[in-house]
Amino acid sequence: MVDWQRLSVGERTLLERLFWAGGLSRGELAQSVDFSKSKANLAIASLIGRGLIEDSGTQPSSGGRRPELLRLSHGMGVLVGIDIGATSLDVALLAPDMTVLDHHAEPADVRAGPVPVFGRVRDLLRAALARCGVAPERVLGIGVGVPGPVAFDSGMLVNPPLLPGWESFSIRDCLGEEYRAPVFVDNDVNVMALGTHWRLRGRLQNFLVIKIGTGIGCGVICHGTVYRGADGSAGDVGHICVDPQGPLCHCGNAGCVEAMAAGPAIARMAEAAALAGDSPRLKDLLDRNGSLSPVDLGNASRAGDAAANAIVQQAGGQVGRMLAAVVNFFNPSHIFIGGGVANIGPLLLASIRQSVYRRSLALSTRHLDIQYVPQVDSAGVIGSAVLALQETMLAGGRA
Ligand SMILES: [Zn+2]
Repeated sequence: MVDWQRLSVGERTLLERLFWAGGLSRGELAQSVDFSKSKANLAIASLIGRGLIEDSGTQPSSGGRRPELLRLSHGMGVLVGIDIGATSLDVALLAPDMTVLDHHAEPADVRAGPVPVFGRVRDLLRAALARCGVAPERVLGIGVGVPGPVAFDSGMLVNPPLLPGWESFSIRDCLGEEYRAPVFVDNDVNVMALGTHWRLRGRLQNFLVIKIGTGIGCGVICHGTVYRGADGSAGDVGHICVDPQGPLCHCGNAGCVEAMAAGPAIARMAEAAALAGDSPRLKDLLDRNGSLSPVDLGNASRAGDAAANAIVQQAGGQVGRMLAAVVNFFNPSHIFIGGGVANIGPLLLASIRQSVYRRSLALSTRHLDIQYVPQVDSAGVIGSAVLALQETMLAGGRA
């Protein structure tokens, strides 16, 4: 086990910097944290001596040989990244530099309750550790993303609409029965924002990640860290009203953006268009399958179906209407859009952009960039593992 308590503030600063940067030469590392060369060298020697960082070898480049890069040592231990979705679960082991060592994904029914789901997670984790030949004591930290609101300090879910029966279940205690490593739980959108932040090497300080799936949520990176608010509910944008005359939302209010533009709303509009005879293509699919999904609508839209395109534009317009308010308030440099509905295609993104730019103040949008989250394999478990390592370092090894 890493004895985090015995690290000096300077050593911990260097470790964190290396984690976010991915790999730096000694000179770059000292410069990036504003340490003198001698102070940096002393701390680096101590970290290498403890087996926490290592030379990753000389990097060849066209301009000759680059100096050796330092990185977090694989010998330090492993991180566990767990990603619980509404219909799936992913369990992965990662090295401290976020190399995926083992990743297993399977369908799951979270409505069955937390006991069977986490029984399965524990089985999968044991199997993954055995496959990689890693002893449970070598787990440095465990990160868990869940599709519902989380009180971050306690790691408990609070009134999760998609996860009935999970509220009084302690994920931290459940995994703590088997592992000494600290366990950190956060909502899936914050985890996605952290993963994006790490992938961008911490270069962007103020940005938003919007997830459009069964619901709509927003991860907020403010001054380079996840902003969770007073109670952990920051970024809960799904219930911002975009049309007072709109349909009733499961929260009891009318016209929430989630009730008008998330996956179920898009599927409902697609079925209505099919039944109204607006799209022979969607009608044909509906007759064959009995229902339509956002994937069906995306396929029809990309094939040029006019009714499908109108639905995509309408949903994009509503998301943009919500985002315009958020942009005026927060002034992000970038907005990244992810989640299952983001697979619908370029027309959705164009509709969101158009709606945001039309409604936001010129100063907030002067440099605003809106794009899809790049589709990266293992993004969910990487985000959870980033959460695990970052919080373990900050907390000095205790949850
Ligand atoms: Zn609502």
